[in-house]
Amino acid sequence: MEKLCSVAIDGPAGAGKSTLARAAAKRFGFIYVDTGAIYRTVGLGCCRAGVDGSESGQVIALLPSMQIDLRHGGDGVQRMFLNGEDVSGEIRLPEVSRCASQVSAIPEVRAFLMEMQRSLARRNSVVMDGRDIGTVVLPDASVKIFLTADPRERARRRHAELREKGSSVTLDEVLRDMQERDERDSRRAAAPLRAAEDAVVLDTTGLSLEESLERICALIERGLG
Ligand code: C5P
Repeated sequence: MEKLCSVAIDGPAGAGKSTLARAAAKRFGFIYVDTGAIYRTVGLGCCRAGVDGSESGQVIALLPSMQIDLRHGGDGVQRMFLNGEDVSGEIRLPEVSRCASQVSAIPEVRAFLMEMQRSLARRNSVVMDGRDIGTVVLPDASVKIFLTADPRERARRRHAELREKGSSVTLDEVLRDMQERDERDSRRAAAPLRAAEDAVVLDTTGLSLEESLERICALIERGLG
């Protein structure tokens, strides 16, 4: 049987995780798993039900009614489904980001989504990105990378991305929203955002996407031996 490999890429919002993880997965022929999209889908389910993401009792009560599926299309692109509906576009809305960050602090939500993430890595070689992949979801990952960058640069990247999608959000709004999320993600008791002890920390401030990708691929190659 072919040996499966797992690469964990964690870090704060806007560090370039998804773009880099997707490109690295493609290069190595692995599946790319965006775990933020899974939390976003729960966040969207709460928004739609009119439940505030910080109301943990109400969020937990809602979980059994949410059927969350993650599928990879022929092009390798991950799509998210909520009760059978493709919500891959809608989960990117800024109000869903905030709600995703709120619900992800609830231990029951994290437990609800854990098996889905681990089972993907049991069946495939993966590059998985998130906040707690190297620390909690895949503690035995073959390679662990913690990606970071200066907050202003991260906000600028995220702002450009949102503007490209037609959003009129300002740079200051993006920076504020990102700092609020980072703080909540880092301070929470359940699986906080932090680098695993055996992760390599890569600061991408001042690096181009290509340079960051080359460094990540070199780390993966070294880690896979
Ligand atoms: O990565 P992305 O910005 O799409 O993630 C949305 C939110 O989901 C994050 O702010 C974080 O609160 C949460 N998340 C998490 N654990 C993960 C991935 C995302 O708590 N593994």
